[in-house]
Amino acid sequence: MTDDQGEMMRRRIVAANWKMNMTSDEAGAFINTIREGINGKEAEVHIIPPFVDIAVVKDALKGTDILVGAQNMYYEDKGAFTGEISADMLTCLGVHSVVIGHSERRNIFSEDDEMINLKVKKALEKGLVPILCCGESLDTREAGKVSEWINAQIESAFSGISAQDAVKCIIAYEPIWAIGTGKVATTDQAQEVCLLIREKIKELYGSETAEDIHILYGGSVKADNCKELFECPDIDGGLVGGASLKPEFVDIVNA
Ligand code: PEP
Repeated sequence: MTDDQGEMMRRRIVAANWKMNMTSDEAGAFINTIREGINGKEAEVHIIPPFVDIAVVKDALKGTDILVGAQNMYYEDKGAFTGEISADMLTCLGVHSVVIGHSERRNIFSEDDEMINLKVKKALEKGLVPILCCGESLDTREAGKVSEWINAQIESAFSGISAQDAVKCIIAYEPIWAIGTGKVATTDQAQEVCLLIREKIKELYGSETAEDIHILYGGSVKADNCKELFECPDIDGGLVGGASLKPEFVDIVNA
């Protein structure tokens, strides 16, 4: 896609993180209600259901250009890792992308930066698109340490990853204080941190990678606030939690 000056433009991406919601029966029925509304749009749409719903969702999306993602994966190939899911298991189901380092994984399940880096590397090795999440807590923001925190998260997640691979990743900036709270970041706050992330990528990999990489905003995105967020120059779309479980998701994709 190019703009009026013939410059390459980044494609818009809207990703639906269902978290631990929807049985497979509910998932199939919900996809049938939103399928036509989200298919064939300019935006690239990723539906990211719980693991056990992936096959049903894939089936319900047959014949569309909508992509299916996973919410997590483990970085080992196989073995004695009870309860974990490997990258090969995901690709075998036709999964396109995988969320890595969501703040709920970091905070509730104690995933650290080192593990997140290993997961990003494994996802890339297996041909999955990592949707790498980063974001600060309210305490970090109030202490004036947002840039320090985000830069450290990005540096660590991309450690040992080439520019050629880095550009395949999608980064989601999700301020923890805005996730599921109804408290959306202002467009200025969201744009400021997404720009900061792009500048960090430029420092690590150069301007071409920084210009091409996709950066999303996530945190209480809804139909009535998404348009102005998506219009910010460094925000290429959204990672949507709560609102992706409702018919409202169609309006977000259309925005
Ligand atoms: C998320 O958890 O990825 C998210 C953005 O959630 P919500 O939209 O509900 O804040």
